[in-house]
Amino acid sequence: MDGADSPVATILLVDDSRTIRQILRNSLVGAGFTVLQAGDGQAGLEVMRAEHPDLVLLDIDMPVLNGLDTMRAMQSDPELAEIPVLFLTARTSGADVAEGLGLGARDYLRKPCEADELLARVGAALARRQAEIELSLKAQELDDLSTTDQLTALGNRRRWQVAVSQLQARGDLSRPIALAMIDIDHFKVINDTMGHLDGDTVLTLVARRLRNAASDDDTLVRWGGEEFMLLRVGPESAHIAHTAEEMRASVCRWPLAVGIDRVVEVTVSVGWVTGSLGEMDHLLGLADERLYAAKAAGRNCVVGLA
Ligand code: GH3
Ligand code: MG
Ligand code: MG
Repeated sequence: MDGADSPVATILLVDDSRTIRQILRNSLVGAGFTVLQAGDGQAGLEVMRAEHPDLVLLDIDMPVLNGLDTMRAMQSDPELAEIPVLFLTARTSGADVAEGLGLGARDYLRKPCEADELLARVGAALARRQAEIELSLKAQELDDLSTTDQLTALGNRRRWQVAVSQLQARGDLSRPIALAMIDIDHFKVINDTMGHLDGDTVLTLVARRLRNAASDDDTLVRWGGEEFMLLRVGPESAHIAHTAEEMRASVCRWPLAVGIDRVVEVTVSVGWVTGSLGEMDHLLGLADERLYAAKAAGRNCVVGLA
């Protein structure tokens, strides 16, 4: 590999010829790789599941399970599908190679293969895989960032949209859901009397209490300003009244400490509703109406109807 600090890559050799495995193994071990071996595709899959090698060198003609079928089995197993595969083939026809590449193999080596070429191709495939991993981590990071509210660290409206779109794409629009819309009472007064920075701290502390009162599986986002929205999916939706009350109670249970020796008593109003995934827009409107009713009823209260 490319330096003393890179971890040692593990390579699995799957070939029914012990002689070929021995030759390849010597080259790979000489270059610093850890090498595992299997004599057919079935045995190879077992080693992959147990050891998760960084790369597989896969012969095509083998007993029990040939290379192409092994590749198919890898592709249909999410745990193995991402492992880069280089085919090893003694065939002169390119048809199998083409089929192997079509199945997602990174490259192929014609046997007999010179050590330099073997190491160059293995190195290139590992480097490409590493680059892909880094790219997908970066993409995940960016995705997390773009769906996170920077102030409260809850999800933002985009996170909500992504969650709802994913649920709806799965199809079952009759799935039970519950929504709870939470709004801080007289927040403008807090801003006006304590300042915007303390207002921000209050938002963060309220968000934390709401998150603690919600279930881990609930999607809780900052809907905007000093409003939050909770989405629960599945049979647990039936218990939303309890959670809504717990959210309300947890915010006003103790004053919030916004700074040293500075506390503020904060309350929230909550409107909740239950229904099915297919009625999302309608339910959002109802949650909003009930939140308004909770405000009208004097604030620091919960209004909902199953
Ligand atoms: P109600 O009980 O009827 O909800 O009254 P309210 O004062 O909470 O509601 P209103 O909608 O009148 O005021 C919301 C305030 O929230 C106004 C806005 O300046 C403030 N706000 C919105 N986003 C932020 C923020 O990110 N930080 C701070 N500090 N204030 C914010
Ligand atoms: Mg408010
Ligand atoms: Mg509001």
